[in-house]
This record gives sequence, C-alpha cells and structure tokens, in this order.
Amino acid sequence: AKRRGKAQVRVFDEAVRRGVGHQLSTEQALRGAVAAGELVLHYQPLVDLASERVVGFEALVRWVRPGTGLVPPDEFLPVAVRAGLIGGIDRWVVAQACADAAAWPDDTLSVAVNLVAADLREDATVLAVVHALASSGLPARRLVVELTEGTAIGDDEDVARNLAALRELGVRLAIDDFGTGYSALSYLGRIAAGSLKIDRSFTQRLGEDAAGAAVVRAMVSMADAFGLAVVAEGVESPQQAEIVRTLGCRSGQGYHFARPMPAEDVPAYLAAGARPTLSLLSG
Ligand code: C2E
Ligand code: MG
Ligand code: MG
Ligand code: MG
Repeated sequence: AKRRGKAQVRVFDEAVRRGVGHQLSTEQALRGAVAAGELVLHYQPLVDLASERVVGFEALVRWVRPGTGLVPPDEFLPVAVRAGLIGGIDRWVVAQACADAAAWPDDTLSVAVNLVAADLREDATVLAVVHALASSGLPARRLVVELTEGTAIGDDEDVARNLAALRELGVRLAIDDFGTGYSALSYLGRIAAGSLKIDRSFTQRLGEDAAGAAVVRAMVSMADAFGLAVVAEGVESPQQAEIVRTLGCRSGQGYHFARPMPAEDVPAYLAAGARPTLSLLSG
C-alpha cells in the first residue's frame, strides 16, 4: 500500500508539474501578446426582440497565438487574471472596442466590453476608459461595461469607487451571466446598472420544462422592479427567441442571430440588414 501510495504521489506530482508548466508557458507567451498585436476582437450582435433590429455589439477577445491559432477567452483569461495581466488586456480591449464602434456606420449602436473585479480595483481602468472615449470620440452612453454579479455587488471599496466613476462618465453598466453568481438581490437597485443579462443556461432550459419559463419570468419581473432592461443570452433557436420575447426580455444575443464575428465583418453584416437568417450562412 505504501509503494502504491508513492506511485500515486509521483503521478500526481507529474500532473501538477505539467499543469504549472502549462500555466507558465501560456503566461510567458501571453505577456507580450498585447504589444505584439496578437489579440483580436470578435463582435456579437445584440438584437431587439420586438423589431429584430441590431442595437449593439459585445466585444469578445480572442488570442491569435503563434503556432496555435485562435484561442478562446476561457482558455487564457484565467491565466491572465492569475498572472496579473488582465488589466493590460482589458485596457487594450476598451480602446480597440471604442475605436471600432466609433467607425460603425450607425451612431446609435452600443458596444459592450467585459470587465472583471481585478480591472475595477485599478484606477488605471477608468483612466483607460476616459482616454478611449476621448481619442475615439465615442459618446460615453454608447459604451456598456458588463460585469458579473460577484463583481457588481461585492463590497470592495475600490471597485465601488471605480464603478461610480464609470457611471459618472455616462457609461452604462450591465450585469452579465445573471443567475449564476450569488444573487444578493437587495444590491440590484444600488449598483444602478442599466441592464441585466440572463445567463444562457436559463435560456437553454426554456422549452425543456415549465419551471424554466417560471424562473425567467421571475427574473424579468425582478429586473422590472429595479428598472433594468433584460437581455437573454444564448438564444440559439427561433423558438427560444420567441419564448424570451413573450417572457418580457427586451433583447437577445446568441447563435440564432449571429455568432461572434471578426471586427472587419461588422460593416458588411450591418449593410446586409443583419437578419437572423444570416447566422445560417456564416455558420
Ligand atoms: P460572456 O461575456 O457571457 O459572453 C458570452 C459568451 O457566450 C461568448 O463566449 C459567446 O461567444 C458565447 N455565446 C454567445 N451566444 C451563444 C449561444 O447561442 N450559445 C452558446 N453556447 N454560446 C454563446 P466567448 O467569446 O468564448 O467568451 C467567454 C467569456 O469570456 C465571456 O462570457 C466573458 O466572460 C469572457 N470574456 C470575453 N472577452 C473578454 C474580454 O475582453 N475581457 C474579459 N475580462 N473577459 C472577456
Ligand atoms: Mg459579456
Ligand atoms: Mg454572459
Ligand atoms: Mg459568460
């Protein structure tokens, strides 16, 4: 038993070493990624459910890692957060997203960026927003900052101060992945967000059972009470689009409308009328 124990420890050791090695090499490669221009933004439209018109886009970062290709955010952002690199990445995202949006043909479209708690603990993030708005000429009200519930309602003083500073600038706040964090509902009124995005796990459950609809309905009436507009994430079918619309969601986002697209495809997408059927063509 003792020998087996040692063997197991050795196997475990190896796995840990490989894991740490992976973290280190990714961290190393990520360190110069912003400066090397290896990050790109893809944009996914946000669609008004009543009119089916595009009302804005969410910027989603990808890493074009040399030798690997397009790396999705879930595979490198956790490393970036642990290595303290997330601030630099998100400041780049904010600047790029504002510059892109300022060049879109429709000057009513909003652009949303995702920020994490670590970003909001740094005053540099607010300065980056100020700078990005000034140098792009994008009006502050066209910029939306998406935060997860934990970030939005945490009791960190620096985060609270920086969120207040963003609101002061006229930037709008959205609560992302709603329903997946710890929902201290009493805080919803206090953080003065403009909208709430229902996590896609709830959208996907609709159609499966009656309880799914009851949960979304409850979220919508709660959002109403706090004056928040509701966005349904992860809308993948026309049926889901119809259900979330009937349940009171104002807008939707998901593969049914369009997958996230490279920044350079946005103007053509808008020019083509941005209809949901486009998602069939772009796959
Ligand atoms: P999120 O902010 O909740 O973004 C929505 C995610 O759901 C995106 O994944 C999007 O591609 C995906 N999605 C959209 N519609 C559908 C659908 O119909 N079905 C399914 N299954 N998925 C859908 P993505 O681009 O991989 O991003 C994952 C997460 O990474 C984001 O979740 C966000 O939390 C984070 N993230 C992305 N870009 C940034 C960034 O620039 N900065 C930071 N800090 N976080 C980012
Ligand atoms: Mg988001
Ligand atoms: Mg989300
Ligand atoms: Mg998410």
